[in-house]
Amino acid sequence: MKIETKCVQGGYVPGNGEPRQLPIYQSTTFKYDTSEDMGKLFDLEASGYFYTRLQNPTNDQVAKKICELEGGTAAMLTSSGQAANFYAVFNIANCGDHVVACSAIYGGTYNLFSVTMRKMGIDFTFVSPDCTKQELDAAFKPNTKAVFGETIANPALTVLDIELFADAAHRHGVPLIVDNTFATPVNCRPFEWGADIVTHSTTKYMDGHGSGVGGCIVDSGKFDWTKYADKYPGLCTPDDSYHGIIYTEKFGTGGAFITKATSQLMRDFGSIQSPQNAFLLNLGLESLHVRMQRHCENGQKVAEYLSGNDKVLSVSYCGLPGDKYHHLAEKYLPNGSCGVVSFRIKGGRAAAEKLMKNLKVASIETHVADARTCCLHPASATHRQMNDEELVAAGVYPDLIRYSCGIENADDLIADLQQAFDKI
Ligand SMILES: *Cc1c(COP(=O)(O)O)cnc(C)c1O
Repeated sequence: MKIETKCVQGGYVPGNGEPRQLPIYQSTTFKYDTSEDMGKLFDLEASGYFYTRLQNPTNDQVAKKICELEGGTAAMLTSSGQAANFYAVFNIANCGDHVVACSAIYGGTYNLFSVTMRKMGIDFTFVSPDCTKQELDAAFKPNTKAVFGETIANPALTVLDIELFADAAHRHGVPLIVDNTFATPVNCRPFEWGADIVTHSTTKYMDGHGSGVGGCIVDSGKFDWTKYADKYPGLCTPDDSYHGIIYTEKFGTGGAFITKATSQLMRDFGSIQSPQNAFLLNLGLESLHVRMQRHCENGQKVAEYLSGNDKVLSVSYCGLPGDKYHHLAEKYLPNGSCGVVSFRIKGGRAAAEKLMKNLKVASIETHVADARTCCLHPASATHRQMNDEELVAAGVYPDLIRYSCGIENADDLIADLQQAFDKI
């Protein structure tokens, strides 16, 4: 099936006489006839549901759809994109380990890595999205366990050279984790370029209507953990909390990563998505391909308008032929990138704030990437914790505005921007 059909029909397939729409299993718990039946679930000897903190059938059907969209072997939903990125890294990196991450990433992820996970004893080296093969190689250490980057960085809008990062990761015997939130599998499937694990904040385009915070992790099933068994003891040696099962032995390369994340991390941290939110996410996914097309058309038109505006210092949108990442976009995002356009305004922080105050169609929101156009000044919001040097390294200048084109008519968005520019 093509991606459009998978958006609509992937995941849940009703049997004869069953509901056409995905049922919401609004139940914390599941019933069994004998304690023996239940014991098998606790031993991971049988698959099934027992408590929604770990797994819920509604969530699993939606994860299955995203898994099909990305072309993976297993997937799980999480309560947020933050939880997805935390689980994806923490599933294979422990205290004393090290991770190489692209510096152009979402502010929340940067904070998670550079502050919170460092407190847990995991070290991170941040590399420029424009680094060379040699610079990338130099970032690895003997205790490196993963490489992390975003297909299209939020909000810097740099495009990750997925093959370059995947090759470096694989030369050093570690997987590449790609946060594919902005591109969505409609526009890029990182597994096709060598990525091993994909994460999403489903809060953005996948939900698409600003209705539910959520996340997802998908495993490509391609990374052979057993080849580097000494590096990944969590996947390749017995888990005492499940009577000594070995994830790679019992669930294979295609299932080990997600089973471990579910049975250990979800069990212990409980960042489960509510089945209600998973239902809404599934509705969003059904129109993802249609919406992405309009988001990209609007993004292109707004980016072109901004490039011709003399009050604008620069525009970042990889769909513009002059954009620094246009050549990478042609390779990895041939059908379009996303609806988010970043631009720097002349007159610094003050001008940025004034322009935004005068917008009427676009509202100021921390949110991004949904049906309604919204905008944000990252330096005073999502990236507030960074100093000026870190802001520049992340591609987030103090005069930068992140403008997220919704699916309205582009002429209205441009007229709104024009009247706001006229006031400064
Ligand atoms: C928003 C976002 C996140 C965090 O997701 P939440 O759902 O807000 O927790 C992670 N990565 C990217 C690229 C994002 O845009």
